[in-house]
Amino acid sequence: MSIYKSIVIGTGPAGLTAAIYLARAGLAPLVIEGIQPGGQLTTTTEVENFPGFPEGIQGPELMDQMRKQAERFGAEFRSGWVTGVDFARQPRIITLEGGETLQTETVILSTGASARYLGIPGEQENVGRGVSTCATCDGFFFRGKKLLVVGGGDSAMEEASFLTRFATQVTIVHRRDELRASKIMQDRARSNGKIAWALNRTPVAVETDELGRVKGLRVLNNVSGQEELLEADGLFVAIGHTPNTAFLGGAVEIDSHGYIVVQPGTTKTNVQGVFACGDVQDTRYRQAITAAGSGCMAAMDCEKYLEGSMVHDWSETLN
Ligand code: NAP
Repeated sequence: MSIYKSIVIGTGPAGLTAAIYLARAGLAPLVIEGIQPGGQLTTTTEVENFPGFPEGIQGPELMDQMRKQAERFGAEFRSGWVTGVDFARQPRIITLEGGETLQTETVILSTGASARYLGIPGEQENVGRGVSTCATCDGFFFRGKKLLVVGGGDSAMEEASFLTRFATQVTIVHRRDELRASKIMQDRARSNGKIAWALNRTPVAVETDELGRVKGLRVLNNVSGQEELLEADGLFVAIGHTPNTAFLGGAVEIDSHGYIVVQPGTTKTNVQGVFACGDVQDTRYRQAITAAGSGCMAAMDCEKYLEGSMVHDWSETLN
């Protein structure tokens, strides 16, 4: 069985940028694409904040271009669902669904994070058409409109504050009367005159008008026990993200929220030769451009590691 120099798991902007850099360095990486090739950007429509595209670019097209760029320099792609890893041995072992195993000297983890959705009727049908999980990506499209933000954590406060730049009014909808967000973020939102509050409301369904446009969110008023329609032109769901790290089974250090821990200022995990980039290790920025930047960092960290690594006796077990 061949031993790869590097395997990249995940094909969002982080993984594809890592692949471009590794391929250009002559390391012929294998890139494993999961069930959502291209990652979260393929669920957005127009991307207007990725530098280099003054007229904007469709998310899927941007990802397709990155993939072609990686292929041009010799990155190999294959579809597969990684079910497990063994980082206690060298070479590192990656197991795919079906039982096939791959061996590699280094691994770049770029499996991203998935925005959590409410799971209510009308929600998925309207993603990208009035329902969004990313204010930075889609807020601009709601200039002069009324918006709802669901959630009571820091993300909801931050998204709501950001959206007041565009919207005439932003109502934060939260299922309890107590917010989870930090005091400073709450205070900031409370002092913003454009933010209104709908506390003690549990989302029931996203409603649309006869033309199929989002017209509001049906909620259950937990105090009165009655259902109400909160009218709005758009809905931002900000109830957290789930980093895609379950398949690692504790093989690298993860934090209490499930994100991979990297050494500050690098992409190094606590396992030698295993690097992490993009949203799977980023609780803060979560942007395509920051993911791409960290993908570049991971490839450079990986190259450096391979240059310095004298480990070619595969019978040895090291960490
Ligand atoms: P979070 O803190 O887990 O908050 C999620 C919110 O969504 C909670 O208020 C929760 O309600 C609500 N929620 C969850 N599932 C729901 C459902 N099915 N229906 C209705 N509401 C639901 O997530 P987050 O706000 O994304 O923050 C994640 C981490 O990132 C936190 O550590 C946060 O501090 C950090 N963060 C920091 C910043 C910053 O410092 N600038 C910005 C964003 C995020 P309950 O409260 O009732 O559980």
